[in-house]
Amino acid sequence: MLPVIALVGRPNVGKSTLFNRLTNTRDALVADFPGLTRDRKYGQANVDGRQFIVIDTGGITGDEEGIDAAMAEQSLLAIDEADVVYFLVDARAGLTAADQGIADYLRKQEKTVYVVANKVDGIDGDSESAEFFAMGMGDVQQIAAAHGRGVAQLLDLSLDPLLPHFPDMAAIEDERNDDDENAQAQLERLQSLPIKLAIVGKPNVGKSTLTNRILGEDRVVVYDQPGTTRDSIFIPMMRDEREYVLIDTAGVRKRRKINEAVEKFSIVKTLQAIEESNVVLLVIDAREGITDQDLSLLGFILNSGRSLVLAVNKWDGLDQYIKDEVKRELDRRLGFVDFARLHFISALHGTGVGHLFESVQEAYASATKRINTAMLTNIMEMAQDDHNPPMMRGRRIKMKYAHAGGYNPPVIVIHGNQVSDLPDSYKRYLMNYFRKSLQTMGTPIKIEFREGA
Ligand code: GDP
Ligand code: GDP
Repeated sequence: MLPVIALVGRPNVGKSTLFNRLTNTRDALVADFPGLTRDRKYGQANVDGRQFIVIDTGGITGDEEGIDAAMAEQSLLAIDEADVVYFLVDARAGLTAADQGIADYLRKQEKTVYVVANKVDGIDGDSESAEFFAMGMGDVQQIAAAHGRGVAQLLDLSLDPLLPHFPDMAAIEDERNDDDENAQAQLERLQSLPIKLAIVGKPNVGKSTLTNRILGEDRVVVYDQPGTTRDSIFIPMMRDEREYVLIDTAGVRKRRKINEAVEKFSIVKTLQAIEESNVVLLVIDAREGITDQDLSLLGFILNSGRSLVLAVNKWDGLDQYIKDEVKRELDRRLGFVDFARLHFISALHGTGVGHLFESVQEAYASATKRINTAMLTNIMEMAQDDHNPPMMRGRRIKMKYAHAGGYNPPVIVIHGNQVSDLPDSYKRYLMNYFRKSLQTMGTPIKIEFREGA
C-alpha cells in the first residue's frame, strides 16, 4: 500500500502549487470527485522512485461555521486517510488566526504533522518562519513550492520514517522494468501467486452487489484466512481451480447502513487497491453512462499499468433504445481503452457475471505471457520493415533489438539509434503492432526506448 500525504492549510498558502509539483513529476492524474469529496484532489506522485498518494484538502480556515463547518469537516476527513499531514503556512503573510484554528484542530488528531512554511523564496526564511514555531507543532520546514526549493528535504524527512512500513516501491518498480533475467524471475513469481482482482468504481455502481454475487456463486470457495478481520478488504477465494484474492473497495462484509453509501467510498482505498492488484475490474453504471468520475478512475488504472476488464452494470430492464445509446456512448468515449474487454452485466440478477472471469483470466494470462528477446526482436523487425521510422536530423532512426523488461504489464525495451526521438504516432503504431502480434487482450503494453546497443 502506498503512503498517503495530505496537504492542509488555509487558502492561498500554496497547497495546489505543492500538489502540482509533487504530482507533475509523472503523468499527473487528478481525481476530482465533485459533490462527494468537495474540493479534495487526489494525485499519484513518484519522486525519486518513491511513490505516494497526495491529497489536496482544499481550503480550510479552522473557524468555519454552519454549512462551512460541514464543508470543512468533509475536507478534514482526508486527514483521517493520511499517514502524514503537511500543514502549510505562508511565510510571507505570517501567522494568522486561521492558521491557529487549523493548528488547534490538528493537535487533536493523532497524526504526524509537519509545519511547512511556504514561499521562502527571496525572503529571510529563518526569521520569517520563526513565529510558526510558536504554534507548538514542532520544527518548521521551509520550502518554496513554486520553485521546488526544500521539497526534496521535506520528503526525505517525512517519508523516510514511513518506509519501513511500506514495500520498497522503487525496488519493485525497478524489478518490473529490469533486464531479461529479472523479468523472468518476476514472471515465475507472478505465475505462482493468486490473481489479485480489484473491483473498483464510483459509489453506487454496484460493487458490493457484484462482490456478494461473486462470493455467493456455487463454484466459488471463499477461504476464511487467519488474521483477516471482518472488514478486511482482501478476500481469498477459489474459482474453477484458480486462486484469487478479491480486493474489495466497497466493504461488502460490513453491515450496510442507510447513509453509509457515500462514506464507505474512499478514493485512497480505491487507488491503493488498484496499485495492489494484478487485474482491475472497473464497474460502470449503465444508467448513468460514462461520467467524469469513471474517466478519472480509468486514468489512474491506465497509469498503474494494471490489466483491465470493464463491466457495464445494471444492464437489466433497460429499453433497447437506451441500450443502443449507451453502447454508442461507450464506443465514442472509451475508444482509448480498446485493449480491454467490455461486459454488460446485471450484478443484481447475476447475468453475465460468470463471463467476467473468463476475461479476467485472459487479461492476466496476457499480462504474464512469456515474451523473449528473439520473439520481440522479430516482431520489431517486421514492424520496421512494414513501415520505416522517419528521418531525424538527416539520419534514419534505427531500432536494433528488443527484450522483455517486465510483466503485468508486459514491458518491451527497444534499443537502437535515436529511438528516443521516435514520434508519438510511430510509438502508437509499434504498440498496436506488438499487441496484434503477441495477441494480448486485457493488458496495456509498455514500450521503453534505450539509446545504443
Ligand atoms: P492554495 O490555495 O493553498 O492551493 O494556494 P495556491 O497553490 O493556489 O497558491 C496561492 C498563491 O501563492 C499563488 O499565486 C501561487 O503562485 C503563490 N505561491 C505558491 N507557492 C509559492 C512560492 O513558493 N513562492 C511564492 N513567491 N509564491 C508562491
Ligand atoms: P456500490 O456503492 O458500488 O457498492 O453499489 P451497491 O452494490 O451498494 O449498489 C448500489 C445500488 O444499485 C443498490 O441499490 C443496488 O441494489 C443497485 N444495483 C446494483 N447492481 C444492480 C444491477 O445489476 N441492476 C440494478 N437494477 N440495480 C443494481
